[in-house]
Amino acid sequence: MKGYAMLKIGESGWIEKERPSCGPMDAVCRPLAVAICTSDVHTLWEGAIGERHNMILGHECCAEVVEVGFLVKDFKPGDRVLVPAITPDWNSLEAQAGYSMHSGGMLSGWKFSNFKDGVFSEFFHVNDADGNLAHLPANISPVDACMLSDMVPTGFHGVELADVQFGDTVLVIGIGPVGLMSVAGANMRGASRIIAVGTRPVCIQAAEGYGATDFISYKNGSIEDQVLAMTSGKGVDEVIIAGGDCETFVSAIKCLKPGGKVGNVNYLGNGTYVTIPRVEWGVGMGHKQINGGLMPGGRLRMEKLSSLVSAGRLNVHPLCSHIFEGWDHLEEALFLMRDKPSDLIKPVVKLSD
Ligand code: NDP
Ligand code: ZN
Repeated sequence: MKGYAMLKIGESGWIEKERPSCGPMDAVCRPLAVAICTSDVHTLWEGAIGERHNMILGHECCAEVVEVGFLVKDFKPGDRVLVPAITPDWNSLEAQAGYSMHSGGMLSGWKFSNFKDGVFSEFFHVNDADGNLAHLPANISPVDACMLSDMVPTGFHGVELADVQFGDTVLVIGIGPVGLMSVAGANMRGASRIIAVGTRPVCIQAAEGYGATDFISYKNGSIEDQVLAMTSGKGVDEVIIAGGDCETFVSAIKCLKPGGKVGNVNYLGNGTYVTIPRVEWGVGMGHKQINGGLMPGGRLRMEKLSSLVSAGRLNVHPLCSHIFEGWDHLEEALFLMRDKPSDLIKPVVKLSD
């Protein structure tokens, strides 16, 4: 089969590989549509998870089941499925402890394009099919369904990590597709004010549609000066970080009220230390919590989040700013995600209806 792979750090291309085989609890699927993620950019060009040779990229897709193992109960060949980016081993001790995303070791629930071949391929393998796949609701298109692999669950996980409460003022740093879903999630959780940080006009417009009430640019002076000025010096109840770098935590802590929470879902692609400002962290006693997490993955989460889309409570289509048709456009879509032109939110490649 053909797959689009990371050949080594900084180099990618199409390669031939053997079609994956199916264990008793697994499935082999073929993508109906795939989406490119900023994480693919970190992995391929920044080498953020280290060297990988001939590893097929991609972890966001919607698919058709081609083959299932003899122990799989709820899926059969021909079923159209949602595929989470994170596919934990549900019988692991980490999953039993509530940290499915770390099943088998830190971040090891993230298997596609990390520990095994990803989904930019004619066929791909899914472990624990009953625990990880979800049936695709009939009223969600394959293109929109790709947003449920990672963008919705990760953006919403930022909201969970920050623990947004009714009436809160929330700062969302970064309004690419992940941060946009954090804006939408914070809005659903009942935030009264959502301050969004970003510059791409298309993202600002989308953020407004998802419920952001105020906008600032990290290019117009420090985030903290702007946020403190617009909150009469009080700061915000929660900060969700979905963009920036190791230094962004300085702004987050400075903007946060005592007792507030940071929910980070940003993938820190480089740097050695995350900086926490001592004084604004209450000299260690400010009760400002910092939570950072990979999204949990798995079937239940896919079913619950897709129900928001199929019920019309969440429209993910505005995220899909660039829709291509056919594998021939995959590379173009990947390079777009690296270059982030001002009209880009998310590139998606449709392969089938
Ligand atoms: P984008 O690059 O599309 O968006 C990043 C956002 O951050 C943009 O709004 C950008 O602004 C803003 N930004 C850039 N630099 C700064 C800065 N110095 N200070 C503040 N804001 C800044 O990324 P995605 O939305 O696709 O992904 C966000 C992050 O989430 C990525 O690191 C990605 O790898 C990670 N991720 C994490 C997952 C998880 O499970 N935890 C899963 C999936 C993704 P501008 O408008 O100027 O571009
Ligand atoms: Zn992703």
